[in-house]
Amino acid sequence: MNDHKISEIPPEQMGLNTRFTFQCHKGVKCFTDCCRGIDIMLTPYDILTMRRKLDLSSEEFLAVFTEPRILEKADMPVVTLKLLDDERRSCPFVEDKDGCVIYEDRPTTCRYYPIGVGALSYSGEQGDKDEFFFTVKEAHCLGFEEDREWTVAQWRQDQGIDERDAVNEGWMDLMVRKKSLPPSMKLSEESKKIFFMVCYNIDKFRDFVFNSSFLKRYEIPADKTKEIRSDDVKLLQFGFEWLKSAFFHAGRENFQVKNSKKE
Ligand code: SF4
Ligand code: SF4
Repeated sequence: MNDHKISEIPPEQMGLNTRFTFQCHKGVKCFTDCCRGIDIMLTPYDILTMRRKLDLSSEEFLAVFTEPRILEKADMPVVTLKLLDDERRSCPFVEDKDGCVIYEDRPTTCRYYPIGVGALSYSGEQGDKDEFFFTVKEAHCLGFEEDREWTVAQWRQDQGIDERDAVNEGWMDLMVRKKSLPPSMKLSEESKKIFFMVCYNIDKFRDFVFNSSFLKRYEIPADKTKEIRSDDVKLLQFGFEWLKSAFFHAGRENFQVKNSKKE
């Protein structure tokens, strides 16, 4: 099994315009080494795109390809990619010769590598982020010996990270909000189940919105209802907003409970 040793030299903080040299291609000796023995956390948008690629319902995708976990610092449910039970604990989507068979729809974590991201401060409310980046230099990765130069911004653009982070922003915001609460303020098990459904099981969430009393309970404009009925990304982002309002009492004006007389 690949033990994925990470360089012990502390990473240098990088900004969007910092340059680094890296290239990954079929010709490198380590090709696909990084797709074994690793933990890959899936974002909500990863699940939307991967299950579409595989033509599975979100329920089927979760059952076959993921493992539920709890993100310790935030005490929030997350899902990771379930690795194969082979000697190297391979990703189910890696092929020795061709690499990633779902490359166009690979998870956000795979796109980021070899760049990591940290936050000095974050205020989702104002949309302010003070992020920094760093290179993740794993000992087995020979991509750093190649001579292709990038800025962090170019890498993010090339790998489709900007688009993915924009969709997942509401999810990240929920995680950061929860992490910043005192540890004694826990979500109930029922709330965690609702969080899991909204963020990772879009088919179940759609059913919940359209086939329960949800739309009778809240004042949701007709154009919003139409939009989320036909667009999974919009439905997901609507779900993030609902969770923010329900768990953190932020943006409650978007989820006004209907006056009982109107019902
Ligand atoms: S160069 Fe790095 S990212 Fe590319 S296959 Fe090798 S280990 Fe993986
Ligand atoms: S999803 Fe693709 S890129 Fe990511 S670990 Fe699996 S094979 Fe590698």
